[in-house]
Amino acid sequence: MPDDRLDETSETTRFATRLTQVGRPGARAHGFVNTAVVRGSTVLHPDLAHRKSVESLRNEQAMVYGTHGTPTHFALENAIAEIEGGTRCQIVSSGLSAITTPLLAFLKTGEHVLVPDCVYGPTRRFCDGMLAGLGIKTTYYDPMITPEALEGLMRPETRVLFLESPGSHTFEVQDVPALSAVAHAHGARVLMDNTWGIHFFQPFRHGVDVSIQAATKYIGGHSDIILGAVTVADESDWHRLRDASMALGQYASPDDCWLALRGIRSLGVRLKHQMAAGLEVANWLAERPEVLRVLHPALPDSPGHALWKRDFTGASSLFGVVLKPNHGVDAVGAMIDGMTLFGIGASWGGFESLILPTSGTIQRTAGTGKFGGEMMRLHIGLEDVADIKADLERGFAKLNEVTGG
Ligand SMILES: *Cc1c(COP(=O)(O)O)cnc(C)c1O
Repeated sequence: MPDDRLDETSETTRFATRLTQVGRPGARAHGFVNTAVVRGSTVLHPDLAHRKSVESLRNEQAMVYGTHGTPTHFALENAIAEIEGGTRCQIVSSGLSAITTPLLAFLKTGEHVLVPDCVYGPTRRFCDGMLAGLGIKTTYYDPMITPEALEGLMRPETRVLFLESPGSHTFEVQDVPALSAVAHAHGARVLMDNTWGIHFFQPFRHGVDVSIQAATKYIGGHSDIILGAVTVADESDWHRLRDASMALGQYASPDDCWLALRGIRSLGVRLKHQMAAGLEVANWLAERPEVLRVLHPALPDSPGHALWKRDFTGASSLFGVVLKPNHGVDAVGAMIDGMTLFGIGASWGGFESLILPTSGTIQRTAGTGKFGGEMMRLHIGLEDVADIKADLERGFAKLNEVTGG
């Protein structure tokens, strides 16, 4: 085969090719390239015997009732299961639902969960609010904890080890295989928020049991859907997850699932481009006189960089910047307000660059997350890198105006 696009030895190329195939109707199904949007609540049956036989398939991809999924949902589930390297996937209403649904599936009253201190803020609120109200206790741990120290936090009633690697805002990379081994030795399941690591981190090859994706981010890719996906590789985990999802009435719009499938077709090229652009901007920022540190797992002084090198095949375009301590909150505000290309807003994974100050929003209770200066989070989109740098230059000029006095 002269064409290097079909080079079987290149994992990235194979991934790119797979993304053009996953979740599509068979070529001879009805001729059109894409899966249709199927909307529906009622499913009609030819007779009662058929209805009965279908109802026993509630945990399968069968047409039972709208909440059980339509062919559009099933296509997306198959596509994401493939991207995550698992076997079964449940689509839920949001990335946050993709976190709360498995937590409720794998924990009950009197049990205990270990959560990294760098966890996504709404996950912490769920643990401190809903889970605490249900009598489920949470212990926050340093994401850079050693397996020996984690051993000391395990209790007989610890049923879930939650991971988020790299962490929200501070980007610590965790030792997933070693920490998972400790959890498994104590009979706990390992749940991981793998939104940042999408494709670049294969959770099931590293000891994770349940992988969580906010499909809102890179999978959607265009900042216009809210969607979550939970993937497993073990059959009994699947039944626990599916039962909880059904019990909670989890559902997502088939139109959003269709948009996610559309996003997946360009996911490979977007990730490749955004990784390179993100790295270029991160390295450029690390050289700026205003910057103390860049928290990007692919940069050598980012926490857990060696683990990123060992376990990841690439990097997302979301990272943190720590400014030197002479720059205060007001200077950061002037910087961000003075930029014109970067959007000011939550979320990430779309085609547009975004920036937010993060210092004031970082909640930590295990004593981690202090990096020595005001912090910002950047998401690098698909704009030309020269324009991205020019906008940051514009911002730094405003920052220095305020700091310089
Ligand atoms: C955005 C995000 C979520 C939540 O996704 P939503 O679809 O916005 O609910 C979960 N985890 C991480 C790491 C995120 O960045």
